[in-house]
Amino acid sequence: MARLVDGYGRVARKARISVTDRCNFRCSFCMPKEPVWLPQEEILSFEEITRVVRILASMGVSRVRLTGGEPLVRKGVDELVKSISSIPRVEGVSMTTNGFYLSIFAARLASAGLRSVTVSLHSLKPERFEEVVGFKGVFNRVMSGIKAALNAGLNVKINAVIIRGCNDDELVDFAELSRRTGITVRFIEFMPFDGERLWNYDKVVTAKEIIESLLESYELYQKPREAGSTAKYFGFRDTEVGEIGVISSMSDPFCSDCDRIRIKADGKVVPCLFSRDEYDLKPLLRNGASDQQIADFIKHAFKQKFSGVETLLMRNKMPSHVRPMHTVGG
Ligand code: SAM
Ligand code: SF4
Repeated sequence: MARLVDGYGRVARKARISVTDRCNFRCSFCMPKEPVWLPQEEILSFEEITRVVRILASMGVSRVRLTGGEPLVRKGVDELVKSISSIPRVEGVSMTTNGFYLSIFAARLASAGLRSVTVSLHSLKPERFEEVVGFKGVFNRVMSGIKAALNAGLNVKINAVIIRGCNDDELVDFAELSRRTGITVRFIEFMPFDGERLWNYDKVVTAKEIIESLLESYELYQKPREAGSTAKYFGFRDTEVGEIGVISSMSDPFCSDCDRIRIKADGKVVPCLFSRDEYDLKPLLRNGASDQQIADFIKHAFKQKFSGVETLLMRNKMPSHVRPMHTVGG
């Protein structure tokens, strides 16, 4: 089947599939205080998700990331990993998780074919972390989850959303964690997709600020950027252990070589995180459409992909709140 190409010539190679909008945490930068979940019958079944991934793979999408909500709150998600990783042409399946259930599932996920996990860890101070995610007593459990993932042989990365006045004093602590363990730590700029619409640009700590601040403590060098990567990576000159990534979605986005397509838990295709446009696959999946009809629908949806947040910024327009992050998967 022909590749998935958008109206600007960008080719889709990666899919982010949200398996649920539900979550056991309540991170304020992602989730409203009182979330309204999608009704169960609106959520794609594992068979439906696997079919969509098979069709995407036939159009050249080779890397799949499962996200949410919290993917590990969906029962049997290791079975989904197994089905997706056995699809020909799918070269790697990864997951973004809050890590709470990893100590239970890491080994099972690894044997199901998961290659890597990105664990969101926004603070190394237990009390602060628990304040951010909205639950007490969960920090140690997430840390055990990270250890379990490493023991299971998964490639592990850490994501920390950096918010001014909240956790921007912990950059060196995170860098030390990376230098001690070899785990890549990625700092993400706060995006306007919080649950209560409280985002403003003053709360964004830019990638440039993050790197400048780390340069006061370390000699860093920038690594070559892989096409389509959301992050810029830096190594430490004095050691080969550890790596820092910065995801500059707000200050310096890489829309021009974006190679991602997103599918929400309810089967809506979201060509770009910063656009309201969504294209509902579910009626086709549930009304007997052929693979070719579904592929044509996805092709049409992807063709409409918005040029990206880069264009808004070039026009001096800040993006507005589109949807809370838990409904689409970061
Ligand atoms: N529950 C999982 C987790 O937290 O890793 C997966 C879903 S979460 C929506 C995916 C990623 O988006 C996480 O790394 C999370 O920290 C990030 N995220 C959530 N809200 C964000 C925001 N407003 N700005 C930037 N990143 C955000
Ligand atoms: Fe849940 Fe992840 Fe959103 Fe936090 S960032 S509320 S863990 S979906």
